[in-house]
Amino acid sequence: MIVLGIETSCDETGIALYSGDRGLIAHRLHSQVATHATYGGVVPELASRDHVRRVLPLAQDCLAEEGLDAGDIGGIAYARGPGLAGALLVGASVAEGLGWALDCPVLGVHHMEAHLLAPMLEPDPPAFPFLALLVSGGHTLLVEVADIGRYRVLGESLDDAAGEAFDKTAKLLGLPYPGGPQLEALAREGEPGPFRFPRPMTDRPGLDFSFSGLKTAVVNAVREADEDAPTRAAIARAFQDAVVDTFAIKVRRALEQTGVRHLVVAGGVGANQALRGRLRQVAEDQGAVMACPRLAFCTDNGAMIAYAGYRRLWAGERDPGPVDIRPRWPMDELRVPAPAD
Ligand code: ATP
Ligand code: MG
Ligand code: FE
Repeated sequence: MIVLGIETSCDETGIALYSGDRGLIAHRLHSQVATHATYGGVVPELASRDHVRRVLPLAQDCLAEEGLDAGDIGGIAYARGPGLAGALLVGASVAEGLGWALDCPVLGVHHMEAHLLAPMLEPDPPAFPFLALLVSGGHTLLVEVADIGRYRVLGESLDDAAGEAFDKTAKLLGLPYPGGPQLEALAREGEPGPFRFPRPMTDRPGLDFSFSGLKTAVVNAVREADEDAPTRAAIARAFQDAVVDTFAIKVRRALEQTGVRHLVVAGGVGANQALRGRLRQVAEDQGAVMACPRLAFCTDNGAMIAYAGYRRLWAGERDPGPVDIRPRWPMDELRVPAPAD
């Protein structure tokens, strides 16, 4: 079975083809960063309109690259949520329309489940059970994963998501949107030492996170400090060190608590090299193995949607009815893949 994956939850149009026999066979991405950069954040209406323009041409490119045509598609998966309602509707409508036209099954998948399963596309996939640290633009989750669809959320952010904290801090430092990768680059040039920010919620038990206080600490530091380049780099470094330390402490705690021996780090912030390096060390210290998606599949992409959709469609799962997106969708509502009644 070849599954067409459609990702339109936010500001990236991602399309991919996943084959049960051959694995990931094609993928295309169109990022809207340039569209939204002038506004300093994602403008939902512009995002929806751009998805409308991109989805079908990208799907045609994927098929053409493999010498396939639409008739070879055996199933269609789209991101059903969480995400921006208008953007999700584009992917959902195209998927349902194509499904009718091609007479093939359609399934809306959970965007965070897709992020979580993205390392399954790599040569050394993680084994179940694993602990997943999902760090993206809208979510910060520690999830115990017994199997596909068997998720227990152990901790989450009580306020800002990790990616949001990176983006807001980057903005404070005058870096363009989206700031995560730029902040990482600036932090690489920063001296450790001149600044030290809090490691929120690490001094008490539990696995939840909070990043809004850290942001306030950065606001104060920026206000009081000099504006020269070394100072800005040192602030970026101190912010990133605080985030990395916080995740290292909580991931170690979660590995100890669960006794799980595989760690997955996924989502856009999972592309951060300082975070990856540190968590790899934490995992090794606990006798665990870390798995990550390739950098391009940490942020939003169609490949992860195609894969998650393939696993569920293959198990017989189908969309229950007409287009039904879930802009908000708690992960612990998910179940093991099963045929619809
Ligand atoms: P969600 O998946 O929660 O709906 P999203 O899809 O917008 O949110 P992703 O595409 O997974 O999020 O990730 C984007 C986020 O990752 C942005 O906040 C971005 O700044 C951050 N990010 C990307 N690369 C890096 C990096 N190298 N270091 C830190 N943050 C990064
Ligand atoms: Mg994005
Ligand atoms: Fe995402």
